[in-house]
Amino acid sequence: MFETDTQDVAQRAFTGDLPPEVRVEELIARAHRRYAGLDEGRLADYIPLLEQADPGWFGLSLVSVDGTEHAAGDTEVRFSIQSISKAFVFALVCEAMGHEQVHDRVGVNNTGLPFNSVIAVELNDGSPMNPMVNAGAIATTALMPGGTPAEQWEHIRSGLSRFAGRPLELDGEVYRSERKANQRNKAIGRLLESYGRLDTDPLDTVDVYTRQCSLLVTATDLAVMGATLADGGTNPRTGERVVSAEVARDTLSVLASCGMYERSGEWLFEIGLPAKSGVSGGIVAVSPGKGAVGTFSPLLDLAGNSVRGQRACAYLSRSLGLSLFASAAHPVSQKVS
Ligand code: GLU
Repeated sequence: MFETDTQDVAQRAFTGDLPPEVRVEELIARAHRRYAGLDEGRLADYIPLLEQADPGWFGLSLVSVDGTEHAAGDTEVRFSIQSISKAFVFALVCEAMGHEQVHDRVGVNNTGLPFNSVIAVELNDGSPMNPMVNAGAIATTALMPGGTPAEQWEHIRSGLSRFAGRPLELDGEVYRSERKANQRNKAIGRLLESYGRLDTDPLDTVDVYTRQCSLLVTATDLAVMGATLADGGTNPRTGERVVSAEVARDTLSVLASCGMYERSGEWLFEIGLPAKSGVSGGIVAVSPGKGAVGTFSPLLDLAGNSVRGQRACAYLSRSLGLSLFASAAHPVSQKVS
């Protein structure tokens, strides 16, 4: 399809460095102060347990590609990773299966429709479309190596733990709560099966997918996981290579176009970073070669993106010069809503 001779591949794409550490520290603290009082949005309610979150929680963490963390607020609160798992499971499957296979079996185009849309599958002749909506995420989970659902789950749990640099645990309560409410995902699984898009049992795969969404993380974990992608697939905290640089790049490309639900275009326009969010209130935003921001705040907008998290990312992207499309850091006085 799109080919490049090996000798033509650039060794390093360089988009600049982060500002000095004291400045990063100051801007993280300032972003936290600036948006902590914002109380727009609502808690997710379609998984009953998520409604019990404290609407005041707000954690912000930035981890650079050298592993340094700058943090403010509730960065130790644990919450279920939800849709953010899709990004990292996609990376693991790309690592195992290769770029072409995943491109053909799952796809990489935006649907423009809600994350759990059944119509999107029907409109696209059974294609799951991309790994960041539920259909594509279920198709991706089905491709995970392992002879049984239990082995696939173990690969996912250990793989996401390597991204985070520590063992991640399942939140059994969230898992059971979502298992009772995931009829729609089961329907999507069956629909993909009817189009011949799954080689696994759809209900087993949806169960593995539900578990992956129930892994507990913190804002700091998200920043470390994102920094691993920013660092070309090597975890900057543990030094472990989790995926290849090519897989890190491919994952970030998909996040840029599909990571923020139906608001992905608007997000890229305003913030200019590959990112993924989840309905429990987390966001990970990645600045390749520099680091990643992990945010957690459970009040969501109508698309399911954390309100405070988006505002903090917009502020940090501009004040730290993180955007992929910026040739230099913009002064903070420019439009920062
Ligand atoms: N576990 C949720 C679902 O599949 C994830 C939703 C989300 O974070 O977007 O419905």
